[in-house]
Amino acid sequence: MALEIKAPRGTNDVLPADSYKWQMIEDAARRVAQRFGYREIRFPTFESTELFERGVGDTTDVVQKEMYTFKDKGDRSVTLRPEGTASAVRVCLEHGLFGGLMPLKAYYLISAFRYEKPQAGRFREFHQFGAELYGSSSPQADREVIELAASFLRELGLDRIALNINSIGCPECRKNYHQALKEYFSARAEELCETCRGRLERNPMRILDCKSPICKEIAAGAPLILDYLCDDCKEHFEILKKSLTDGGIEFHIDPHIVRGLDYYTRTVFEFTDPDSGLALAGGGRYDGLVSELDSKMQVCGLGFAAGLERLVGVMQERGLFPEPAREGAYIATMGQNAVPVANKLASELRKLGIRAETDLMNRSVKAQMKYADKTNSRFAVVIGDSEVESGTVTVKDMAGGEPFEAALSEAAKAMAERI
Ligand code: AMP
Repeated sequence: MALEIKAPRGTNDVLPADSYKWQMIEDAARRVAQRFGYREIRFPTFESTELFERGVGDTTDVVQKEMYTFKDKGDRSVTLRPEGTASAVRVCLEHGLFGGLMPLKAYYLISAFRYEKPQAGRFREFHQFGAELYGSSSPQADREVIELAASFLRELGLDRIALNINSIGCPECRKNYHQALKEYFSARAEELCETCRGRLERNPMRILDCKSPICKEIAAGAPLILDYLCDDCKEHFEILKKSLTDGGIEFHIDPHIVRGLDYYTRTVFEFTDPDSGLALAGGGRYDGLVSELDSKMQVCGLGFAAGLERLVGVMQERGLFPEPAREGAYIATMGQNAVPVANKLASELRKLGIRAETDLMNRSVKAQMKYADKTNSRFAVVIGDSEVESGTVTVKDMAGGEPFEAALSEAAKAMAERI
């Protein structure tokens, strides 16, 4: 009977023919992070639910509607991480890293889980490259994190990506702003979705980020936070804008960006694909998060995360993945005497770091050569009784170069020299 179990809705499989695309992106992420002095951290796929309730914010869409939360067999409430920032802060607190060398810079490549309505570019399991910087309140830190994200996108060959920035101020300037929002939304309270009606008192800014069409429409005319910034927040934003301009990083100011997570303060930003309108990366400053999780600690932080599925999609649309180049060698065999000789040559090649394959299917030479071609082998060698006897082989260059003869004992080296 055919397998009827399918991958869960909103999840993706990566097939062997496509995995190089993911590896290209992951390699670029590691390279660029390293250039800016960020080192990798890893953390568990699930955490205590409370971490995200407190870290992401209990009035956010992510926490209110989208978390994969369940009780484990020990009756503890755990949640599959919906993002990486809260976990990254937890790691630093738990291991005392905030007491060490500052600024602290870390990056991660993770899967993340959100129970969202699957659609183009929106999945229930997705992957992120994220980077976080702790300990600096300077707008130059904001510039560095934005520059890191921009460099990553450029490294992937993605130009024509719009950078939108905004400042959502600090708790001080938000007091007046919250009041203005409450007044604005109260006038149309009955039209808001049920979740947003509940947000009106507790956190009216969250209404600006609701995905319901009617809330979106009402939010479009709401007062703008930029008009409510205190002098310090204004100055921070001015210095950041100047530093981005000085660094040749183009940006637009979008006063509507508030971001979906509660912990942001001051700078928020998004990199968007202008063709699809999808956000490829987003982030910002979150000076209140660390103390939210440990009231004794006052450490500012900021960071961003980029969505890898969306990057693969956009790069595919723009033809940015090169056709895989021919590489390695296929050692075809004709008859049983050739098998140990072919195995030896293949293992010599592998020791030199070169991909080498031999026949495992008992196929004809013709069928073996077809496999060699389809798997993009650079070289092909056929070993039969006469090659075993003479101790020499002819190496065919499948990339169109001249074939050449080599002694069996020298063949691996001869191929390696030509790659
Ligand atoms: P966020 O943590 O919401 O700021 O997301 C950061 C980035 O992750 C976004 O800009 C997207 O590229 C990506 N992302 C967020 N949610 C999803 C999702 N459900 N499916 C695919 N990618 C996502």
